[in-house]
Amino acid sequence: MSSDNQNYDSWQSAQRVCVIGAGTMGAGIAAHLANIGFQVSLLDVTREAASEGLARAKAAKPPHFYVPERAADVEVGSLKDSYDLIARADWVCEAIVEKIDIKKALFAEIEPHLRPDAMISTNTSGLQISLLAQGRSDSFRRRFMGTHFFNPPRYLKLLELIPTEETDPNGVTAMSKFLEDRVARRVVVAKDTPGFIANRYGMWAMYQAIHAAERLHLTIEQVDAITGEFLGRPRSGSFRLNDIVGLDIMEDIAKNLVQRCPHDSHMGVFETPKSMKVLIEKGWIGEKARQGYYRKEGRELLALNLDTQVYNQRQEPDLPSLKELGKTPLGERIKLALDKKDEVGEFLRNYLVPVLKYADFLKKEVSHSVEDFDRVMKWGFGWKMGPFELIDAIGPDRLGLSTGSNYSEAGIRDFDGIYRQREAHPEYLQLADCPVIDGTDTYSLRDLGDGILAVALKTKMGVITPQVVSDLTEFAKERKAQPFVLTSEAKSFSAGYDLSFFDQAIDKGDYESIDRALSDLQSLGELLEEAECVAAVFGHCLGAGLEIALSCAKILAHAETNIGLPESRVGLIPGGRGTTLLRLHNQFTAKRLAEVAFTMAEGAISTSADQARSLGYLRQTDVTVYHPDRLLSAAKRMALTVGQSRRPNWHTPEGPIAGMIDRELDSGKRQGVLSDHDKTIGDKIKVIFAKAVSYEDAVRMERVEFVDLCKKALSHARIKHMLETNRPLRN
Ligand code: NAD
Repeated sequence: MSSDNQNYDSWQSAQRVCVIGAGTMGAGIAAHLANIGFQVSLLDVTREAASEGLARAKAAKPPHFYVPERAADVEVGSLKDSYDLIARADWVCEAIVEKIDIKKALFAEIEPHLRPDAMISTNTSGLQISLLAQGRSDSFRRRFMGTHFFNPPRYLKLLELIPTEETDPNGVTAMSKFLEDRVARRVVVAKDTPGFIANRYGMWAMYQAIHAAERLHLTIEQVDAITGEFLGRPRSGSFRLNDIVGLDIMEDIAKNLVQRCPHDSHMGVFETPKSMKVLIEKGWIGEKARQGYYRKEGRELLALNLDTQVYNQRQEPDLPSLKELGKTPLGERIKLALDKKDEVGEFLRNYLVPVLKYADFLKKEVSHSVEDFDRVMKWGFGWKMGPFELIDAIGPDRLGLSTGSNYSEAGIRDFDGIYRQREAHPEYLQLADCPVIDGTDTYSLRDLGDGILAVALKTKMGVITPQVVSDLTEFAKERKAQPFVLTSEAKSFSAGYDLSFFDQAIDKGDYESIDRALSDLQSLGELLEEAECVAAVFGHCLGAGLEIALSCAKILAHAETNIGLPESRVGLIPGGRGTTLLRLHNQFTAKRLAEVAFTMAEGAISTSADQARSLGYLRQTDVTVYHPDRLLSAAKRMALTVGQSRRPNWHTPEGPIAGMIDRELDSGKRQGVLSDHDKTIGDKIKVIFAKAVSYEDAVRMERVEFVDLCKKALSHARIKHMLETNRPLRN
């Protein structure tokens, strides 16, 4: 079909989305879109059904919404009464039941109301996209494609975009750009084949693991240990993943694939494994039925014995090869493990080898490149290496494949055997790709290009130690002229100050070094304020980590970051300017200050960046980066223009601040949220919030109150407990 050169520029500025179908997926998609700022309407057969769907999304665990108030931005309605919402939508996303006739009837019904330039897509996970568009106008068919989100959309970034042969290629490019730039997705364009890439291949691999385990009489604990982190995959491994997905859903997808793929000689794998049959018959279909391959009984975890079909207490598997090879780099590790003469080698030869060969068999039918195929497994299933990267690491010959390597210096091998250069994607800048140009034991200095540096913490969990403070101070003094991004090489930006330092100093009664450490941390913050820097935070950004980040002109926070000043959990208050900065950043009303004081006394940690902003931990000017893979490029761009930090002037809002904080703390105590000692800590925060008369006064008071708390046995007990158990003690 000719494209008659339609221009799709308007798609990039879309604002209104209408999601039809308020079930698991529709409500999840609506929540995700509302989270990131779209105006969303959510329709179902009746208004009640739509409201119920939204209510389920509000109650979901883990939460679908970043902050509960966002749910109020989603307008609900019944389809029949909401044609005006469809007419206004820039994008209509269908997510109703997986029934071809019902979906087709819906498209026929809404077509007359659609704007001629609206995007229109289906979230089907198994139906043929081209069949869904049958009977619709040319204009509709040119704009129609599959947008296959994964559940839950807030947390899973992969989106399979499936055009039909009639979809305008310019529309596909525009949609792909829109989804990446505005909807925080990683897009893989897949072919319109049964189950696309993720379900066709991913589900096959999941079934193959069950069959191999049964055949070899392995335990599910053994298989999960092998197919978890050891294979570079999520800790859930195989059987926990089955329980999470749901055995009923797995069976539905498998049946659909068998029906639609008579041409594929590998469909025998989708025969329901013995153990799965037994579980499904009993209704034990996984987490939603509270049991499947695993069952929780009180605090105990039971695991199904695949031979006897009864639950036993979960056993820690004894697989020496996993320990022996655990530290070897991933590709090499798997290659070596394949040769082992034990359960690990046996399982991998029975499971992984066929799984990799099947990828090679399937690639041309379902995907446009091996890179796309790999990305689906990496972004959708959390594999560190995709099947074709694994094939290269093991060696295609070893697997009986005659393809040659898939990736090489010359680029990526296409299906005709020609290597094509990889495309550059500066928006997906990763720290590991930037050269290290300098550094110390505690941080590395990397060149991000365009005159921007990255200072990346190297300590475990980005922990702040006296050495980190002294190294960063040195750096800030020397390099103030050049803009930089403060970030971390670790899994988290920073888990806070090294508690063992305080513990040891308290043991020795050496309060002077505590005061000095705080004073150094405070001075570092003041130095950073004079530099041109931004903090790129992710994972955890806690305590001293947040104090340092708040000293940068701006924080760019990945949306899922856990942020807070939870010092009260270890019996302390923030002493590295955190208390003072929160006072300055929230001084617009006395009520706000009272709420923030309570949050600190409670030691609250946010579950998202947006929640951190509403709690008062982040400034209104700090930025949430919703795209999971664009934090560093966004931070770099910001660093180019950010300038120096501007600390607000000290201002005391009208109202009885101390009295209001007292009321908050007392009510927290009455409700059992705060203990007596939490109240003591809250009183220290109150003193600084209400009695300090200037910035200088406040930072001095912070140190005094911090040291005073260090002298209290209850605080020291909290510190020790956290060090020993990694959990807070509420004494
Ligand atoms: P679901 O059964 O939870 O919800 C379907 C919703 O659609 C229900 O609320 C139903 O009332 C509504 N509905 C049915 N007919 C309708 C109509 N004519 N007009 C308006 N609303 C109507 O289903 P789900 O799991 O959310 O799946 C929705 C779609 O997403 C399916 O195509 C499914 O294949 C796909 N999908 C599901 C998942 C998943 O994990 N559940 C993942 C990816 C894709």
